[in-house]
Amino acid sequence: MVRECNNMIYMDNAATTPLHPAVREVMLPYLDRQFANPSGSYQPAKRVRRDIDNARALIASTIGARPDEIYFTSGGTEGDNWALKAAAFERHRGRIISTNVEHKAVLNCLEWLEAKRYSKTLVHAAHDGRISADDVKAALTNDTFMVSVMTANNEIGTIMPVRDIAIKNELRSRGIILHTDAVQAYGHIALNVNNLGVDMLSASAHKFRGPKGIGFIYIRRDVIETSLIHGGSQEMGMRAGTENTASIIGMAMAAKIAAETLRERSRRETQLRNYMADKICHTFTNARVNGTMKDRLSNNVSICFGSSDTGMNGHTIVSRLDTLGICASAGSACSSASSHPSHVLTGIGMSETEARNSVRFTLSDETTVQDIDYVVACLEKILLQHLF
Ligand code: PLP
Repeated sequence: MVRECNNMIYMDNAATTPLHPAVREVMLPYLDRQFANPSGSYQPAKRVRRDIDNARALIASTIGARPDEIYFTSGGTEGDNWALKAAAFERHRGRIISTNVEHKAVLNCLEWLEAKRYSKTLVHAAHDGRISADDVKAALTNDTFMVSVMTANNEIGTIMPVRDIAIKNELRSRGIILHTDAVQAYGHIALNVNNLGVDMLSASAHKFRGPKGIGFIYIRRDVIETSLIHGGSQEMGMRAGTENTASIIGMAMAAKIAAETLRERSRRETQLRNYMADKICHTFTNARVNGTMKDRLSNNVSICFGSSDTGMNGHTIVSRLDTLGICASAGSACSSASSHPSHVLTGIGMSETEARNSVRFTLSDETTVQDIDYVVACLEKILLQHLF
């Protein structure tokens, strides 16, 4: 069963999702018979080229873009790096405005750019986990050339007002590029680049049941011309290297399934999310949800289990859940080995202790009420009866 990870209850879908069986199926021929290099000039190569072109067109159609505005990447980290560095390299200096709750793929890239000759301002999220368009406005300076705000947060699932940020601040008419890291949002909420008013958008297939190591970036026509990877003329001359054909085809199938199932999936996930959040908050008097429940991804249940030092910290809870057959996370997957409290949770004004006492459960539409009841029963054993 796909909800299981080695026979465990899998509640870490923000870290990654299982490959959809139909995605695996469409990938297999490209790992086998259809191996031709799409740059070849014989029939098998031309067929692969046509399939890649169709994949590009399909992905473009899911966000209201043109096919020639979609570039395949190795995933979200590369897309974020490409957006920020290319925009910066096309200028001598200047400022990027971003937020204090971005993924490290953005924050560490900004730090690197700052050590060169660029400036950054990080707008702080409010306690509800959201960024305000007015705060972005207050941060704008004459030398700002880019604003980068994630579409939805990876730890608490809060959805940012990207369209408001674009429109209220008239970013396009001021010549300021708007990038959004949509790695957690794409495939989970409906996105249209024209409606959002973004110039660049990065996404990653493994977050929507596609393969790992593949993603895409939308770059509005003529917004940037800088490539970070030089070599052959693949990806319209913008990203060299022989295409990862099987993964591109797989990602397009995952994108198609995600678009077709989005409405029903998110309806079901929202019910499960609310059931789980309510059940946890009723069972544990000190527990509460991190970030707003209103503008939030349908599958995110991020919980703080108390503000006192005597409480059990998230890493301990997660490792005890692990022994009971449950996969959850004490923060984002890439920071789970870190001893620092989450920069997202402290970034929305929680104390270090509250941040440390937090656990993130991210569900899928295949999560069941029985799974949730089992997880809450295990949490009772761990936190109330101290049986583990
Ligand atoms: N941005 C966000 C918001 C993410 O959640 C992640 C991964 O968790 C990334 C970027 C990095 O994506 P990838 O793992 O595809 O490099």
